[in-house]
Amino acid sequence: MIKFLDLYKINQNHKKELLQAFERVLDSGWYIMGNELKQFESNFAVYCGVKHAIGVANGLDALILIIRAYKELGLFKDGDEIIVPANTYIASILAISANNLVPILVEPDLSSYNIDSKLIEEKITDKTVAILPVHLYGQLCDMNAILEIAKKYNLKVIEDCAQSHGATNEDGTRAGNFGDAAGFSFYPGKNLGALGDAGAITTNDDKLANTLRALLNYGSHEKYKNKYKGINSRLDELQAALLSVKLEKLDQETEARREVAERYLAEINNDKLILPKINFRKSHVWHLFVLRTVERDRLYQYLLSNNIQTVIHYPIPPNKQEAYIEWSDLSYPISEQIHSEVISLPISPVISASDVSEVIRVLNEFK
Ligand SMILES: *Cc1c(COP(=O)(O)O)cnc(C)c1O
Repeated sequence: MIKFLDLYKINQNHKKELLQAFERVLDSGWYIMGNELKQFESNFAVYCGVKHAIGVANGLDALILIIRAYKELGLFKDGDEIIVPANTYIASILAISANNLVPILVEPDLSSYNIDSKLIEEKITDKTVAILPVHLYGQLCDMNAILEIAKKYNLKVIEDCAQSHGATNEDGTRAGNFGDAAGFSFYPGKNLGALGDAGAITTNDDKLANTLRALLNYGSHEKYKNKYKGINSRLDELQAALLSVKLEKLDQETEARREVAERYLAEINNDKLILPKINFRKSHVWHLFVLRTVERDRLYQYLLSNNIQTVIHYPIPPNKQEAYIEWSDLSYPISEQIHSEVISLPISPVISASDVSEVIRVLNEFK
C-alpha cells in the first residue's frame, strides 16, 4: 500500500537529533516555560520574519487566543463579524464561534481553493472587524487584494497558517507575516509537525503579543496575579525542543514536497482529473496535493483497489455540519462542489520516486 502520509518515516529521518533534544529536556529537569520554548519561539520568529512568535498548545488555540486578545484590547466584541472561507477546515470557524463572534462564510475560488477575494467586499457590514484568510492546502491566498480591502474598511487580518508553514510570495514575505496576527498548527501531520499537539501565534504587534502571553497562561503576566480570565494553552519544553529540530529541516522537506507536486502536475494526464493551479512556485508548500473530479468516490475506491491510499479534505462542508445546524439552509455552491469533488494524493518529503510514478501511472489509467 502506498501510504497517504508516512509520519513514521518522516520522523525516523530525524531520529538522532530528536532523541538528543528529548535527552536535553529530560536532563534539564525543567519542562514548562523554559529555554527550549524561548529558543523555538525565537527560531520560528526569525523563520517567519516576524517580531514575535508565541508558542501555544495547538492551532485551534492559536486562533481562539488571537480573537480573544483583540476582545481584551477592546477592538472586538460579542456579535462582531469575521469573514472566513466557506470551505476551510472547521477549526478556523470554531475559533470565531468560541469567542461569541459571528463567522461570515465567503465562497472560495474554484481554481485555487482559497477565499475568493472578489466576493469579500459584498459581505462587509458595520459589524465586520476582521478577515481570516486560510492558506488552504499550503498555498498563499491573494494577500495583496485581501490586505487592500482590510485597509479600506479598517479590518484586522488574521491568517490561518496551519497548512502553510514557509509559503512565500514574490517579494519574500512568508505566511504569518502578512496580516496583523497568524495562527500556526504543529499537529503531527502538518508540514512542521511536533510529536503531539502544538501551535504558535506570530505577530509584529507588541501590545497584542503581551496580551497573548498572559491569556495563554491563566491570564497572568505575573505569577498569582490574574489580569484576565485566561486559559492554559502553553507549548511545553519537549515539543518546543523537538520543533526546533524539525524547523531546521523544514525548507528541505518543503522542497521535496514541491518536487513531488511538480511531477504530479507534469505527468498526470487524464481528462477526468482537474489538477491544482499555482501562481508562484514558492507560494505553495504542498501540505496537500488536491485534485478534483466529478467521479471522486469512484476514483477513491479505484485508487484503494490499486493499493494507493488517499484522503478527502474535506468530505462535509462547514455549513452542512451538525455543529452549525443554523446554517443548514444556507447554500455555498462552490464550496459544496469542492467538498464533493476533491481528493488528496499521497505527498510528503519521504514518498519514493517509484511510488510517485506508480500513483501517476494508476491515475492515467483511470477510465
Ligand atoms: C490543522 C488546522 C487547524 C487546527 O490546528 P490544531 O493544531 O489541530 O488545533 C486550524 N486550521 C486549519 C486550516 C488546519 O488545517
